[in-house]
Amino acid sequence: MKTFEFFASAVFWVGLSAVVLQAVYSKSNADEAAPLQFNTGDDVSFSSGAPNYFEAFAPELPEMLARMPQVDAETGLYVSEIKPGLFYVTEGVYQSAFLVTDDGVIVFDAPPSFAHKLPDAIRQHAPDKSIRYLVYSHGHSDHIGGASVFGDIDALEVVAHGDVAHSIAIAKHPGILAATETYNAPHSFSLGGETVELTPASFHAEDVDTIIYLPKQKFVLAVDTITPGEVPFMNFGATSDVGAYMAFFDMILEYEFDHILSGHVSVLGTREDVIIARDYANDVWQTVGAGMADFFDRFNSTFADIGHKNANLAYRATIEAVRRDCARQIIDRWTGKLSVVEVWADSHCEAVILYKIMH
Ligand SMILES: [Zn+2]
Repeated sequence: MKTFEFFASAVFWVGLSAVVLQAVYSKSNADEAAPLQFNTGDDVSFSSGAPNYFEAFAPELPEMLARMPQVDAETGLYVSEIKPGLFYVTEGVYQSAFLVTDDGVIVFDAPPSFAHKLPDAIRQHAPDKSIRYLVYSHGHSDHIGGASVFGDIDALEVVAHGDVAHSIAIAKHPGILAATETYNAPHSFSLGGETVELTPASFHAEDVDTIIYLPKQKFVLAVDTITPGEVPFMNFGATSDVGAYMAFFDMILEYEFDHILSGHVSVLGTREDVIIARDYANDVWQTVGAGMADFFDRFNSTFADIGHKNANLAYRATIEAVRRDCARQIIDRWTGKLSVVEVWADSHCEAVILYKIMH
């Protein structure tokens, strides 16, 4: 996903809905002047001493802070051997991994935020091994847009789903290497006695995602899904399909894994993180479902209140009422359990509302 674009879009919609809804609420809601019991991030200050200072708004939980690895001050990277020959890499926001085998190295994703540091990191841990494979989790440039750092390696196989290879060929992103090996169905390959299983799936990207599984290492990559210790990023990892995202949890829990690399935050996930994220997503899903039981009655009532003059305004106001009630409940139930629920709960509620309107 393109983080900046999502932030820009979010700022636009929050601003627009605040202006539009102010008019509706001030006309129809006697409680409008009452202070909010929660804050969804619309009113946060980064100035120390301000009453809405960010550290009082959505602090990272102590459990989350305790799990965060220390990035090396010199390299700006954290590199950890989590299973023999299997290394996990992060700069604190994005994640990658590499597997050192007897016959060479396999790299998984190349985020542009730190890909330029990967060759040195790999050389340090596998000084006499060549890099043989680069495997893409999906086609988004924020996870593979640094691949060109490996562009001068002879005989490097760049592995991607056929649809991703096609998207890459069209986009012509300068940092992304073209695929040299593609698959359109479950596919596996081996190097130096180690096996990599690739299963096409659909939970995030517009085209296709791949679940990457290393059975011997009990390691699974499913990128842009959960964020361990935190609620997911905006709109459930900016998924292109909320329904498919909801189905992701049962799919991934069928794998036997000790670690899950989900692409974001510095923390590597566990099975327990997936279960907590599933419970959170289900809670949002059910809360929105309950809140929308009388959605069209509420829409009609609001539409009548404003004299049937502006259906878009009535629609937006009804969505906003469900969203606010959902966010309030979710923040109440999940504060202290997952970090930054205050930051993203409203976006999760809204994503499910829009999905449920259309499905
Ligand atoms: Zn993505």
